[in-house]
Amino acid sequence: MGSTTLNRTAPTLMPEENTEKSRWTVRDVVQWTTAYLRSKGVTSPRLDSEVLLAHALGVDRLSLYMDLDRPLTPTERDRYRDLVRRRAGREPVALITQTREFWSIPFRVRRGVLIPRPETEILVECVLAEIRQIPSPEILEIGTGSGAVAVAVAREMPEARIVATDIDPAVIQMAALNSRQAGVSSSIRLVAADLFSPFRPGTRFDVICSNPPYVPTKEIALLEPEIVLFEPHSALDGGPDGLDLIRKLAAGAPDYLKTSGALIMEIGDQQEDCATALLTSEGCLRDVRVFRDLAGRPRVIVGKVSP
Ligand code: GLN
Repeated sequence: MGSTTLNRTAPTLMPEENTEKSRWTVRDVVQWTTAYLRSKGVTSPRLDSEVLLAHALGVDRLSLYMDLDRPLTPTERDRYRDLVRRRAGREPVALITQTREFWSIPFRVRRGVLIPRPETEILVECVLAEIRQIPSPEILEIGTGSGAVAVAVAREMPEARIVATDIDPAVIQMAALNSRQAGVSSSIRLVAADLFSPFRPGTRFDVICSNPPYVPTKEIALLEPEIVLFEPHSALDGGPDGLDLIRKLAAGAPDYLKTSGALIMEIGDQQEDCATALLTSEGCLRDVRVFRDLAGRPRVIVGKVSP
C-alpha cells in the first residue's frame, strides 16, 4: 500500500509528517496507530499497535509500558511504519511478526501455513484426556500445519509417539522447525502425505486427531479479510458442505485405530449434528461426544471404536 493512501485515510498525519512535533514517543505512536488501524476495520487496534511496536523495537509488549515517554528514532519509526502499513492492509499480526503462541509455546508461521487458533487448544485438551491412562500412546495427527497440536501434545506427554502428516511438503518443513524449537522433535515423526496413504493395513493408533478444513466453500469469502486474503484456503475449504474431510476421516479412521481408540476432530460450529451422524454411520464409532469452546460453540468431536 502506498503512503498516499495511508495519508488520505489517516485520522491525523502520519507521525513522520507532522512537522510541529519533533519527538514521537511510544505513547504518541501507539495512540496514533490505534486510531488509524481502527479506521481500517481492524478489530483489536490497540493490542495490534502495541504488539507491532514491540516487534519493531525488539522488546516485549509489556516493557513498552515501562517507558511510554521514550522517543522513537527515525529508523525505529520507519520500521514501525512498514509494519503498520501491512496491518492496515489486513495482514494478520502473526504473519507480520512470523510467530503465534499456542499452548504457551511460540510457533513460527508464514504465508501458506494456517495460523494456530486459540480454540484449537480444545482439540489438544481432548487428545490429552484420551491418552492420559495409556503408557506410551501412539497418536496420528492428520493435517498438522504449523505442528501446533502435535507439539503441544508432545510437550505435555513426552512418552507419546506421534506421527503428524500434512499433504503440503512445504508445511511439513515449518512443522519440523517448530518441533525442533519446542524441543520435541524426537517424539514426532513428520510425513508429507494425504490422509492414511502412508500407513500399511494393520498400523493402528490409540488416537487419530485432526483439525481438518471444514469451512463450506461458499462461506470462505465471508470470513475476515485477514483469513480470506492471507491464509491458505486449502486448510479451510471443506467442500460444498464443509464436511468432505470430516467424512473421509470418519470413514478411514476405524481401520487405523486400536480397539477402544478414538477419533478426535475439530469441527465447525454448525456441524455438530452432521459430524455426529458421520462418525456413527461412516465410521461405526460410538460414544460420540461434542465439546464446546468458551463461547459455548461446538468445537471438537470425539468418537470411540466399538470394542
Ligand atoms: N476456525 C477456522 C477459521 O474459520 C477454520 C479452521 C478450519 O477449517 N480447520 O478461521
